Amino acid sequence: MREAAFELAVCAHVEERDRVLARQIGTGVDTRRIADVIVLDPGPDFETRASITDRAIPPVVIEAFAASDPRPAAAVDAHPEHAQRAIEHALDAGALVAERDGRRTTYRLARPYPDDWVDSIVAIENKPDLDRPGDLRAQVRHDVSLGVVDRVVLVTASHVTGAHEHRVPDPVGIWQFDPASGERRVVREALSLDPDDWGLEVLDRDPGAWTIETVDQSAKRRRRIAIAERAYGAGWRPSRSDWPACARCSAVSVGTATLPDCAWADRIVDPRAECGPDCPGFEAAADPDVAPSTPDPDRERDNSSAWVRDPPGPYRQVGLDQFSRKSR
Ligand code: SF4
Repeated sequence: MREAAFELAVCAHVEERDRVLARQIGTGVDTRRIADVIVLDPGPDFETRASITDRAIPPVVIEAFAASDPRPAAAVDAHPEHAQRAIEHALDAGALVAERDGRRTTYRLARPYPDDWVDSIVAIENKPDLDRPGDLRAQVRHDVSLGVVDRVVLVTASHVTGAHEHRVPDPVGIWQFDPASGERRVVREALSLDPDDWGLEVLDRDPGAWTIETVDQSAKRRRRIAIAERAYGAGWRPSRSDWPACARCSAVSVGTATLPDCAWADRIVDPRAECGPDCPGFEAAADPDVAPSTPDPDRERDNSSAWVRDPPGPYRQVGLDQFSRKSR
């Protein structure tokens, strides 16, 4: 099975009502390291966070407006274009409110941002076939030495031998997972890392000369907020628009989700990674408007995880002095 489809199957079987899952979330502080899957376990303030918005709140906005006093846009510590985009996104999500006092516009958070809404973050690295490990060792070593997440787990469909275990750093947990049945066997428990301590990040790996930097606690804290926010906003299900208008695609129930199943590949597929007119098995559907008949991934996500769809939170701002009820 392709890695992307394997990843969907893992998510469908790991998702639970009291968790939030997301795919392909950046976990590096000064690198582009991306975790295949992020699993968030809620902390005591989770409900408060969920009540603000169902979308991600840009971390630069959280940092700039954490204090309750209204502040100007210049408070956002980012390039002006990025700052403006972040403010617009937060306004649209209902997380930020704009106020005008004469010619001056200031912003404040619609609700105070909670400190303790994430209990733990687990990063999952998927390698269905351990005989083709790619960069596995370097990837999980990066995660372990940086320690920005609480635990790291390798998930594979391969039979795990002692030699495989030996090649994976000790703190990394190993699960053997059958994507067809959803059966999961814990080969080795993951050890807890220490996100509150400083970490080491590998920036470059030239043969014989690695470039490494130390990462302090505050940089790790900021990255954790970014990971949690992106994961909360993103989720993991293919969106409706990703489903292909292909006659060979049908909907199948897998774990907590309804996913695209392909008669040509004889398995579930990740439509964004695998589908489209360029696929050798593609056959245009008689009704090209397949997407609207696919399940609503947001409804499923709301029912199957801790994520709260469209919370009855603050009004969405549509103009400087205008607010509207949120609608979809
Ligand atoms: S586009 Fe290809 S992979 Fe996707 S459903 Fe159609 S035949 Fe299967």
